[in-house]
Amino acid sequence: MSERRKVQVFKFGGAALQDAEGFRNVLHLLKPYRGQPLVIVISALGKTTNALEQVVEAYFHDPVEALHRLQALKKQHELIALQLFDASDPVIDKLHNTFAEAEWLLEEHRREPYDYVYDQVVAVGELASSLLVARLLEVNGLETRWLDVRDLIITDDSFREANVHWPETIQRITNNISTSINPPWIVTQGFIAATSGNRTTTLGREGSDYSAAIFAHALDATSVTIWKDVPGVLNADPRLVPNAIPIRQLSYHEAIEMSYYGATVIHPKTIKPLQNKSIPLYVRSFVDAELPGTVINHEQTEVLPPIVVLKNRQVLLSIYPRDFSFITEAALSEIFSLLSNHRMRTHLMQQSAMSFSLCTDENERLEALLTDLRRSFAVRENRNLHLLTIRHYTEPLLAQLLKNAAIYLEQKSRHTVQIALQPPQMWPALKNLKFP
Ligand code: ADP
Ligand code: ASP
Ligand code: MG
Repeated sequence: MSERRKVQVFKFGGAALQDAEGFRNVLHLLKPYRGQPLVIVISALGKTTNALEQVVEAYFHDPVEALHRLQALKKQHELIALQLFDASDPVIDKLHNTFAEAEWLLEEHRREPYDYVYDQVVAVGELASSLLVARLLEVNGLETRWLDVRDLIITDDSFREANVHWPETIQRITNNISTSINPPWIVTQGFIAATSGNRTTTLGREGSDYSAAIFAHALDATSVTIWKDVPGVLNADPRLVPNAIPIRQLSYHEAIEMSYYGATVIHPKTIKPLQNKSIPLYVRSFVDAELPGTVINHEQTEVLPPIVVLKNRQVLLSIYPRDFSFITEAALSEIFSLLSNHRMRTHLMQQSAMSFSLCTDENERLEALLTDLRRSFAVRENRNLHLLTIRHYTEPLLAQLLKNAAIYLEQKSRHTVQIALQPPQMWPALKNLKFP
């Protein structure tokens, strides 16, 4: 095994870094790894990214309000810093400088495109939280180097969902991070990156799992561990299904399927860079590091329970040619290119002679897609739906879950069932779902 293969990549998300107590817990978790090469990828603390999204939203109709909101976030970071460090600690100045970059942009009132402004402002969350983590390790005697990921992960300029330039990224990461004998730890940011012209980009919401995978791929890491507020990957989101059960082992394939259908525990892009290099992904609890967690690797060695994934805010579109003709391949091609142009994804579709139905997210890009679709087609919408996906379903489980639900579209294969539906009030069957 080469010297390079010894590094491990850890990622801590917002849930691990809610407050000063969370930061201390991360320090406590990391101490046993002293002396081992680590790249530590940090995302914004708590719900900071949501709050920064509101700053961007405000900027376009009320820039003063935007600045107020940003100040409040700066204050919140300062308060945490003051609980962790002396008031004279140099990290406080660094925090100010980080927020100043976004303040200047908000004060300029130049009408830059929304997605560009978004990435410049939202990046502050990861820059600030990673500064605090790096300093905390340093003052506790753990030799640490803070790196600006914007010098390492290089992307195109698709702001808000940038695509990684792999050769350049791999070169920069390997040039900057030497993992030879007894190196310091590296602390860097998830989610954010930059173009080769130094403009900040982001990799898509919840993208810091993906950042960890990019580092692991580039460095031939031994493993990636993402530390979460759950005991590992469960067979359903425990916020929705309190009786969900932990899964000890998953294949890359199964993990991709789950995250693709909407299981938010892992970002969908995370798996491929790891699978390509056979790097295992561990999902472990930062609340209880004694728990075994989940390992995701090549083979499916364990028998899986049914895996339930629910996506809300779904809309079912039924698309018809205006002249009572069939749905042709040319019509399908037009529909798909419109979906692609508007960066809208579909997870469920069905065709009949005269209509094409698909389920997509009810997000801020939907209206523009509908306007374009209606230039060529008649479109009916059913909003406020849920998309339920069950891998390894059983008929009794399905019957139990669908009791009193209004079903709009259903599709079954041998392993997977997908249903666009409106659940009954409170959906007691989901809350009480039990697995053997
Ligand atoms: P992070 O702190 O890394 O951003 P997230 O909040 O994005 O963490 O991901 C953890 C959350 O994912 C859990 O709190 C849980 O509610 C949710 N989740 C959704 N599906 C699953 C699943 N199948 N197994 C475990 N957690 C899940
Ligand atoms: N902070 C970013 C977000 O909330 C990235 C991440 O958490 O993975 O989307
Ligand atoms: Mg997250």
